[in-house]
Amino acid sequence: MQLRISNLSKTYPNGTKALNNVSLDIPTGMFGLLGPNGAGKSTLMRTIATLQEPDSGSVQLGDIDVLTQKHELRKVLGYLPQEFGVYPRVSATDLLNHMAVLKGITNKKERKELVNALLERVNLYDHRKKAVSGYSGGMRQRFGIAQALIGDPKLIIVDEPTAGLDPGERNRFYNLLSEIGENVIVILSTHIVQDVKQLCSNMAIINQGNLLYSGAPDTAINRLQGAIWEKAIDKSEMEQHAQQYQLISSKLVSGKPVIHILSEDNPHNGFERVDADLEDVFFANVMGLQPKLVEA
Ligand code: ADP
Repeated sequence: MQLRISNLSKTYPNGTKALNNVSLDIPTGMFGLLGPNGAGKSTLMRTIATLQEPDSGSVQLGDIDVLTQKHELRKVLGYLPQEFGVYPRVSATDLLNHMAVLKGITNKKERKELVNALLERVNLYDHRKKAVSGYSGGMRQRFGIAQALIGDPKLIIVDEPTAGLDPGERNRFYNLLSEIGENVIVILSTHIVQDVKQLCSNMAIINQGNLLYSGAPDTAINRLQGAIWEKAIDKSEMEQHAQQYQLISSKLVSGKPVIHILSEDNPHNGFERVDADLEDVFFANVMGLQPKLVEA
């Protein structure tokens, strides 16, 4: 099964063009949708999840025409939205049970077994009687995955799942996501390059509603190999370097900016060649640098 997104466009009433003719094929496995804040990721995720309408275009999941067969899509969809509103003072067990009812699991015994199995799976069984409202960020996200897994979904969408998690929570969340079956499409929407690097065999980059890249992370990295140069500079040199070179990124290391630039030839001037990584790919795409090297 694959998810086929064709020519999707969406402009909000205030004139913001959130999606500009986006076409994308998403195979089974973990797929990373990478883009900076405001890129259009949530708009795309909500459209696929049948929560909002595009202006034009189509979305097909296997036999399901997503935009017209909303009910069919929802039966096979697990969705962890960016903002997961929780009911105060309802235990994890009760909340999950309620969600399973909504998802059409009518048999009480079957439902109970499912709820317990899901709580075990996301490692919340020992906390099942606690109110979800009192959970930590990481526990809430794991609860979010448990509810997304109800009903054996074929398509799972997780929107910005690791924002606000500490490194330990993030790792636990990664492990959990990576255990989800191989025959499922999991779309992980994120602005965090690390999320995609660790988890996804395929990815896309979007910015300002435009699809900039789609394919394997390694393919994108290989295209930049040999053309990434690094240098530690003084803050006062930043502007001049930004003007002189194709600046990809700047990171503070011990308080000093370390910059990466894109250059096919050796720029000398104290630069050293470094291996390209996914972060370089991301920034080079988002900054629209060197179409020859970073073609979509
Ligand atoms: P992302 O998830 O990548 O941060 P969004 O899809 O949320 O991006 O937003 C894409 C663009 O559309 C942004 O400029 C955002 O401000 C705008 N936008 C999102 N939702 C609305 C809305 N309901 N009305 C108007 N503009 C919106």
